[in-house]
Amino acid sequence: MSVKIADTAEKSENPVRVVFIGGLGRSGTTLLERLLGQLPGVVPLGEITHLWERDLVGDEMCACGATFSYCEFWQRIGKAAFGSWEDVDVERLAALKATVDRTRHIPALASKKLASDQHQLVTEYASYFEKIYRAAAADTGARVVVDSSKHASLAYCLRWAPGIDLRIMHVVRDSRGVAYSWTKQVRRPESPTGDQMTRYSPAKAAMLWNAQNAAFSLLARRGVPVRRVRYERIIQRPRHVIASLARFCELDLVESDLNFIGEGCADLGPSHSAAGNPMRFTVGRIPIRHDEAWADELPESTRRMVSTLTRPLLGRYGYLREDEEAELPREVAAGE
Ligand SMILES: [Zn+2]
Repeated sequence: MSVKIADTAEKSENPVRVVFIGGLGRSGTTLLERLLGQLPGVVPLGEITHLWERDLVGDEMCACGATFSYCEFWQRIGKAAFGSWEDVDVERLAALKATVDRTRHIPALASKKLASDQHQLVTEYASYFEKIYRAAAADTGARVVVDSSKHASLAYCLRWAPGIDLRIMHVVRDSRGVAYSWTKQVRRPESPTGDQMTRYSPAKAAMLWNAQNAAFSLLARRGVPVRRVRYERIIQRPRHVIASLARFCELDLVESDLNFIGEGCADLGPSHSAAGNPMRFTVGRIPIRHDEAWADELPESTRRMVSTLTRPLLGRYGYLREDEEAELPREVAAGE
């Protein structure tokens, strides 16, 4: 027996509207979450995919500066969603994640129907997330909950949850800039042991960039509302982009709602973003400017390799200059 997506998607009369920010890390997803999170009617939650292990088990720091177990917001959410955080079966959740929420499962999750046992596992897994989203929306009165978990495989799981009105903001950034960023050392300030953020070689980053971005394009073809947004465009015209994205999630804004975005900067208030990039801790005025260090600092041979490996999508997203189009080998485009 199998279950079609429409069988479940039509069941909920009162779905919670979730904006899922997707894309490969270091593409500007945290900046986008911070900007969206300033809008009235929006509650930004951070990368919920990491909440279970880093916050529930690791008791890392919330963006408000309190450790998770001392953050009043998250304690209210835990109580409303699960009765108590202690009632969340973290081991069960980890087992479910291993079974359904992996990039390798995307082809199965992308199908129009799932075998009933698989469907049961996916909806059970997604229900943990839905409970958090609902509790956060109820607690804050927000119309839109933002989860910046990024990973495409989670978005594919959430797609099967009957109670979630899922909308994807797919953030893309020039693969050469992304690859350069993954080579840099960044400390995780929320980690009590002073861990560094994960680093990838440029070749590995290029392959992940391909996989994640292709997965979100496929999700759009499966009927999930996906809005692609270029990081460089956010930097260039933040007010315009945020206003457009607000329409995408059906938020009614007035002009003054965007006053926190100035010329090349934005004024950010505090949040309870639970896990993610260290930028979530920044409160006050932040610069919004191009970070193009990669253009000077990425060695020519590396740049060329990353360009070649990511050529099909790099071209489709409009990142290749004419001279690069001409000089890069074409054969890697065959799989596009
Ligand atoms: Zn907090």
